[in-house]
Amino acid sequence: MRYLVLSDIHANIEALDVCLDDARRRGYDRIVVLGDIVGYGPDPNEVIDRVVALEPVALVRGNHDKIAFGIDQAEGFNIAARAAAQWTLNALTADHRTWLTRLPQGPSVVDGAFEICHGSPVDEDEYIFDELDARRAIDAARQRLCLFGHTHVAMAFQLQGRSIGLITPGADGLRLDADAKYLVNPGSVGQPRDADPRAAYAILDVDAHVLGMFRVDYPVEQTQEKMAAAGLPEPLVRRLAAGR
Ligand code: ZN
Repeated sequence: MRYLVLSDIHANIEALDVCLDDARRRGYDRIVVLGDIVGYGPDPNEVIDRVVALEPVALVRGNHDKIAFGIDQAEGFNIAARAAAQWTLNALTADHRTWLTRLPQGPSVVDGAFEICHGSPVDEDEYIFDELDARRAIDAARQRLCLFGHTHVAMAFQLQGRSIGLITPGADGLRLDADAKYLVNPGSVGQPRDADPRAAYAILDVDAHVLGMFRVDYPVEQTQEKMAAAGLPEPLVRRLAAGR
């Protein structure tokens, strides 16, 4: 069974579509979505329609999806994120807003094979950046492999025995050892922040024990033009090209 893993799409339909095309060429059976389907980007309704049509086997909500409950959910957001959240709230159709409010809170175990969450399995809104964060999360994970999003930074931690560290996938992806635990962020589809502006996604092959992590170019300028036309904050428009 091969799972396409999508995280932090952030209403970026151009980035989502190139990931889907690329993933179709590689082949997958099921889809999981790690939250933040909307927020920041110019096409929240279109992206929700696309995600619904894909019939994901599992999805969890992200902090930006929660603004569907009301703008007070954007309390911890910076000025640009808050402005984008208000814009998103105004742009969403009533049906799409309702759909977002029904997204389940993570963590969630998928087919008894691996776990997904937005921030961490401890707290859906927590950011995992370093080994200390990762250690707490990996101890709380109920499966050998836990996939997370939220930071928009593609990274993989391995816990082997008592030692935890960052690991780099090889050319054929990340080989998952049976005696280790893993905590992996596939990166963000729609707003990468790891200095690589290309859209990120992953494909997990549970039978081959391999997690492929991929980056694909998408027409960033097209998304930026739509954001500018929509009046979304300029810093959010600019950061897409920098991947920061
Ligand atoms: Zn996000």
